[in-house]
Amino acid sequence: IKKIGVLTSGGDAPGMNAAIRGVVRTALTEGLEVYGIEDGYLGLYENRIRKLERHSVSDVITRGGTFLGSARFPEFKEKETRKVAIENLRKNGIDALVVIGGDGSYMGAMRLTEEGFPCIGLPGTIDNDIRGTDYTIGYFTALQTAVEAIDRLRDTCSSHHRISVIEIMGRGCGDLTLNAAVAGGCEFMIIPEITCTKEDLIQEIKLGFDKGKKHAIVAVTELMLDVNQLAKDIQDAVGHETRATVLGHVQRGGSPVPYDRILGSRMGAYAVELLLQGHGGRCIGIQNGKLAHHDIIDAINNMKRPFDMDLFNTAKRLF
Ligand code: ADP
Repeated sequence: IKKIGVLTSGGDAPGMNAAIRGVVRTALTEGLEVYGIEDGYLGLYENRIRKLERHSVSDVITRGGTFLGSARFPEFKEKETRKVAIENLRKNGIDALVVIGGDGSYMGAMRLTEEGFPCIGLPGTIDNDIRGTDYTIGYFTALQTAVEAIDRLRDTCSSHHRISVIEIMGRGCGDLTLNAAVAGGCEFMIIPEITCTKEDLIQEIKLGFDKGKKHAIVAVTELMLDVNQLAKDIQDAVGHETRATVLGHVQRGGSPVPYDRILGSRMGAYAVELLLQGHGGRCIGIQNGKLAHHDIIDAINNMKRPFDMDLFNTAKRLF
């Protein structure tokens, strides 16, 4: 292979820039040419492709987001759209593509691979919900942001003897909520992996206040329930002022923490190494502290992510 492409797709995550830089610098060091595709699969379809040099990735390692841009482009689920994308890659003489993104982006990379264009997937998302890896690029920065937010809420909750409900991102994955809850000392949580009805939660909170609690923080994974309604219901049942805070996109931004920069750099470099060894259709992960790669199709279809039940049980004992 002589030329490789790189794109970032789906929800952006801090550390994506470090990953692009890892790909670009390693590829150039190995004598390859690198092409950056703007705005993910959308830019690929529209043939917005430019050559990247060493200096193209200067000063990006500290920056959140992705300098290549990202997009949601549902049309990429159609084979005809992907045919145009593959034509564009071939027209530019590109032999392989590195896709940095989440679950959806992996599906796109899997389809391109199935249709004859080798891709390597890198897990870039704050949600930590990607198969074949223990951690995703961006997760630790988002965790830091969520914990800082909880700390701030704790100060004011404690002063006003208030209950705070905080909505944390993660889509269908409770990792960010669970870990932020443990690190932030949250008293209660609702996460997708554990069944807990609103009534059960309110009962638990009531018990806590009967035992003398003066304030509390409830961490809830997004899309589980309406946190404003939950706050109202808690207030009505427990008789303490309760407020909801939706952290939202604040969690997606910010300068990446060192671990995300290192993970992005290592995975970016590893993607190029794998391509040079002749691998295609792989996705990269970090498992038990070591870089690993799996068949992207097999990972998507068969590798279910384990849930950290031990940490959940520990959390319950700390409440
Ligand atoms: P993320 O990659 O963060 O999970 P999305 O789920 O929005 O974000 O996916 C990013 C993009 O990947 C989509 O906008 C679409 O272009 C592409 N994509 C998602 N699902 C598929 C699919 N089943 N087949 C092909 N492409 C897909």
